[in-house]
Amino acid sequence: MEKKPFTKLTHLLDFLEFSLENRGLIWDRPRFPLLVPQRMAMKMEKNNPECPIFLQFVPLIKEKETIEGFSCEPVQDPIFRLAPKILQKYEGRSLLLTTKACAMHCRYCFRQNFSYETETIGFSKELDLIRNNPRLHEVILSGGDPLSLKNTSLIPLLKELEEIKHIQYIRFHTRTLISNPERLDDELYNCLSLLQKKVVFVVHVNHPRELDEDLKICFTQLKKIGVELLSQTVLLKGVNDNIAILEKLCFSLFNHGVLPYYLHQLDKVKGAAHFEVPVELGLELIEELRGRLPGYLVPRYVQEIPQRRSKTPVESAFKESLHPLKSF
Ligand SMILES: *Cc1c(COP(=O)(O)O)cnc(C)c1O
Ligand code: SF4
Repeated sequence: MEKKPFTKLTHLLDFLEFSLENRGLIWDRPRFPLLVPQRMAMKMEKNNPECPIFLQFVPLIKEKETIEGFSCEPVQDPIFRLAPKILQKYEGRSLLLTTKACAMHCRYCFRQNFSYETETIGFSKELDLIRNNPRLHEVILSGGDPLSLKNTSLIPLLKELEEIKHIQYIRFHTRTLISNPERLDDELYNCLSLLQKKVVFVVHVNHPRELDEDLKICFTQLKKIGVELLSQTVLLKGVNDNIAILEKLCFSLFNHGVLPYYLHQLDKVKGAAHFEVPVELGLELIEELRGRLPGYLVPRYVQEIPQRRSKTPVESAFKESLHPLKSF
């Protein structure tokens, strides 16, 4: 049986045997509520407010600070909303906001203030847009987390997408498996195995400790049916802004069958300023990774700049900030 996630701060801090002094660092009434799956809590060190797993999920008092440049909607996604549950930002690929729900609440999440459409059930408007746009070749299931959908919603959606000729790839952006590998149940697995479209999973992993033998089994199962596995990582101060950790993460991902895809510069969402890593340090880390890893294990270090046709390599964004591009 799946154990319930922690939603009460005192329960989690008791479980982690937190001292009174350390409890003083924690914010007990954050805007974005606490949600920590058992599996993540078990990977946290006892009574250590600097633990890299703890930091990702437990709200610190620091979240209350208002810092210039950090806002509620840092990537301006709402302007790319074609229908309530679809973002069309880049050519050829559409992103479905399948649900508001996630298996866990990450403190640095750039979507924590997004106003999701939660009234309508199903995706009829969104599917019509996809059907009527032959230039699309890929649909990204995002959210929230698409694996928060029950099979009774997810499987019909996959079947509808399977029927659309011009769609070649179905991509999941998910973090759920990290906390709940059992979410890949037989019903979902069978459905995925029967799809003719190429299926890609981009799994969100920030620290090597998030990976383990259970995930290896889960990922091996996915690979068996031809699912492509990629990762995305957010560069986070105190969590993974360290060459040894990043190197270990990339090797460990590969040993679990996953190719490192993106390393994201933090999106400047309100409350997450204490996670920001300066781009100068990020660029140095990537340079050092290039020296230590085979080329195919070096993630692309990117940042989200609204209005661009794709994610922007941090290197070029950095050069532009030194020598701003002229507009013609
Ligand atoms: C990141 C993102 C994508 C996917 O971009 P890729 O570079 O293809 O991985 C698509 N749509 C939106 C809105 C995105 O933010
Ligand atoms: S799982 Fe992803 S979408 Fe959900 S809270 Fe974490 S970062 Fe945000």
